[in-house]
Amino acid sequence: MNKLSKVNTVLGTIPVEELGFVAIHEHIGYGMPGSELDTKWWKAPEVRYEETVPKLRKFHEYGGGTFVDATGICNGRDIPYYQSLSEKTGVNIIACTGFVGGDTALPHFAQASVDYLTKVFIHEITVGITGSGAKAGIIKVGVSRGGRMTELDKRIYRAAARAAVATGVPVMTHLAIDAEPAIAIFQEEGLDLDRVLFGHVDDGVNHAQTPTERILEVGGRLGFDTFGYETELPDPPFWARPRKDRMDHFLRTLAAGHVDKVLASADANCSPLGWPGVKGHTINYIFEVLIPDLQRNDIDEETINQIFVDNAHDFLAMQA
Ligand SMILES: [Zn+2]
Repeated sequence: MNKLSKVNTVLGTIPVEELGFVAIHEHIGYGMPGSELDTKWWKAPEVRYEETVPKLRKFHEYGGGTFVDATGICNGRDIPYYQSLSEKTGVNIIACTGFVGGDTALPHFAQASVDYLTKVFIHEITVGITGSGAKAGIIKVGVSRGGRMTELDKRIYRAAARAAVATGVPVMTHLAIDAEPAIAIFQEEGLDLDRVLFGHVDDGVNHAQTPTERILEVGGRLGFDTFGYETELPDPPFWARPRKDRMDHFLRTLAAGHVDKVLASADANCSPLGWPGVKGHTINYIFEVLIPDLQRNDIDEETINQIFVDNAHDFLAMQA
């Protein structure tokens, strides 16, 4: 495999080195399909800007270079808005094609064949997303609520695998539970598991059922990407986990020699759509709490740099 060392951002395709420090799993704004039709929660564009720009500016000031938006088709992805945010703040934004899970794919896509979905993903990666000119840099797939991969989830995973093989962009998953069907599909389609980031391996609900040893054995990557959703928050969400418990899990994984296979993020929403969001949690948790916590636990700068820079670049670089 030959690395092109390029990556698609919403403002164009750039050399991977220009990404700098990467937050690998975040959201500009995530909402359930249809939330934009609910007057109760509708946010004016001005409100979304007001809530989002200061967070991205701060991220940039702290040394953040790139924001990977893990919001798929149907969950509030808004490319012209992302382009404007990126221009305004200097933060690279990488958009994804694909779906958070089969259960958030609208009927038009939910009824589509693997072939059709493959073409949708490839089009968004190689031509662009809905006339915006912006190309997707990563493919999102996920396990539907209920924790077992549905027939539709599997169709989306297979289409994602085919699009990843055809274009060289990587795949990230929402949840890594019920991993066997996913691994089988990726292997059947000839996708190197090193191109797959199995996400949410650290969350409070799912970490105990996530087969991390098996994922590592087949060469997959682990996303410790819900840092900051902790039970210590004033109003913690159901997927929260005690801060120390998550950190210990992460440290154990590093100590076991898997530094090159881990990526970390905060899965925060800059401006949630159609739900109140989680108060007090932003992308800047990475700089304000997570990195100081790692330093206190004697994780050196080189390792921190490897996780947020080298590993992220290696994963995101399109392969030909
Ligand atoms: Zn997410």
